[in-house]
Amino acid sequence: NRQFVLGKRPEGTPDRDTFELEEIEVPEPEYGEVLVRTLSLSVDPYMRGRMDEAESYAESWQVGEPMEGAVVGEVVESEHEAWSAGAFVTGNLTWSEYATAHGDRLSPVEPGENLGLEAHLGVLGMPGRTAYFGTRDVLDPYPGDTVVVSGAAGAVGSTVGQIAKLAGTRVVGFAGSEEKVRYLEEDLGFDVGINYTETDDYREALDEAAPDGVDRYFDNVGGPISDAVFTRLNVDATVAVCGQIDTYNATEAPTGPRKLPMVIAPRATVQGFLVFDYEPRFPQATEHLREWVEAGDIEHRETVVEGFENAPDAFLGLFSGDNIGKQVVKVAEP
Ligand code: NDP
Repeated sequence: NRQFVLGKRPEGTPDRDTFELEEIEVPEPEYGEVLVRTLSLSVDPYMRGRMDEAESYAESWQVGEPMEGAVVGEVVESEHEAWSAGAFVTGNLTWSEYATAHGDRLSPVEPGENLGLEAHLGVLGMPGRTAYFGTRDVLDPYPGDTVVVSGAAGAVGSTVGQIAKLAGTRVVGFAGSEEKVRYLEEDLGFDVGINYTETDDYREALDEAAPDGVDRYFDNVGGPISDAVFTRLNVDATVAVCGQIDTYNATEAPTGPRKLPMVIAPRATVQGFLVFDYEPRFPQATEHLREWVEAGDIEHRETVVEGFENAPDAFLGLFSGDNIGKQVVKVAEP
């Protein structure tokens, strides 16, 4: 049973040495627990925060402690009345081939039209719910609004743009390659994709893509993309600050949101949010997302890295934009 622990705290961008592979015993489930065989595991940008000593919104990992995150797996042995061997489940588990968890902390994975097991880590998992509440509750666009999304081809961003389209808006997405821009425009129905690696002048690109200005901005990224979007906010604009991946590996604190004065004249609202706050409504969100996916109204994609031992590379790839849609690691076949 292989397991990844935090090998050492990264300074700046993590690398392979951040992770250490250990061989451990397959754990025995205690009363109330379930032994799960990992089929796929999720790598997420927020995990970068957990690698630092300073606490982010998620608790800091200690060196030598197993990494953990969302997993889809199969029950091997159960000491909990709700589960029996062979059931497919999802929950937060350690990065290992076999792990135990209390049965109350697992949820069932139900197969569906257009929905593989991995979808429960993406569009039907935490990233999909983040997009759902971030777009509907925080951004809350009106039909006809122009919505801009950064990190648009990723797990959260790709779903945000599609939910915003369903709300009758014009959607512009920033992403890091031509392939991603094609994905946004051709597969997801975004009105315009901007490849930010092809231009330094994001403002000019925005003027072309969003000639009427920006009413709603869903920010996954921060940095120079956000600087540009802030200069094009319309009166009563809302900015939903979901993530700032551009800063996660920074070794020095960035000196302020650089374009904050640009929120004054448009009386814009800038709101951070955390998906966990919406927990009581998770079942409703998952159900709604499932309906959209099964009806073909929302597309989803997973980028799959094969092999448990390659989980660190999958994680590191989030920072170089290797993924389209949700990045997952396939550990074993069902
Ligand atoms: P993604 O699937 O979007 O993966 C990260 C993507 O970010 C990469 O594919 C890459 O695409 C892009 N990226 C990486 N570095 C940069 C950079 N310096 N500038 C611009 N783009 C960059 O991840 P998620 O969808 O899981 O998460 C998206 C964001 O949402 C993250 O910031 C995350 O922390 C945040 N988040 C917040 C939650 C909350 O509750 N507030 C919950 C879940 C996620 P590209 O090729 O386009 O550069």
